[in-house]
Amino acid sequence: MVFLKEQLEPFMGQIVLKANGDAKHIPFDKIKGQVLTSIKTFGKELLFCFPDFTLRIHLMLFGKYAINNELNRTLRLGLALETGHVNFYACDCRFLLAPLDAVYDWSTDVMQASFAPNKALQKLISKPQRLICEALLDQSILAGVGNGIKNEALFRSSVHPESLVGEIPKTELKKLIEACVTLSTEYLQWKREEPEGERWQVYKQQVCPRDDIPLQKQKIGKSGRSSYFCDKCQQLYLPDII
Ligand SMILES: [Zn+2]
Repeated sequence: MVFLKEQLEPFMGQIVLKANGDAKHIPFDKIKGQVLTSIKTFGKELLFCFPDFTLRIHLMLFGKYAINNELNRTLRLGLALETGHVNFYACDCRFLLAPLDAVYDWSTDVMQASFAPNKALQKLISKPQRLICEALLDQSILAGVGNGIKNEALFRSSVHPESLVGEIPKTELKKLIEACVTLSTEYLQWKREEPEGERWQVYKQQVCPRDDIPLQKQKIGKSGRSSYFCDKCQQLYLPDII
């Protein structure tokens, strides 16, 4: 999202000349003629800020966007500004009237300078029975962490995705949170250098780079999201069986 925001920054300060699409509950006529004052991100959400309201876009799993271009799909939201246009497809759009500081807790977003790792740690520890691979995807704890970052952070920290949060030592949980932040920043850097370039070590990969043995791929937990991991070098933290 931060990468998309950076691409859209030239539009800041411009007037919306046309707003259209099939998004529900979006007053397109109110958006036309407004000045786009800023663009922000929160986790996986993109926020177009206008003087009296905000347009919130979440790409969900299958959302797409095109800048100064059209895709052959049903347009959900299109904004034409003074020097170009942006189109969104298959995304979730909301119209927010409340001030953003009342809607968002910025300290949970791993890409914000105000991110509070200790708060994230306390929230993780408060639900000790959860699987770590599910807890890391909880957007109310680590907003912005997606499935790729989750898998890489677990690998980098040598923690098995099926570990129970309450069994993982605090120092390891801290390292995991740090890894989520570092990897999110690295991911942005990859995108800046090469928009299609993703340099995952385990996510969607076949072989463990540490052990040179095949990686496991499993859908773990209620969320059904894929976990890629190495049985040998990622430690499984479970209660001792008596
Ligand atoms: Zn390994």
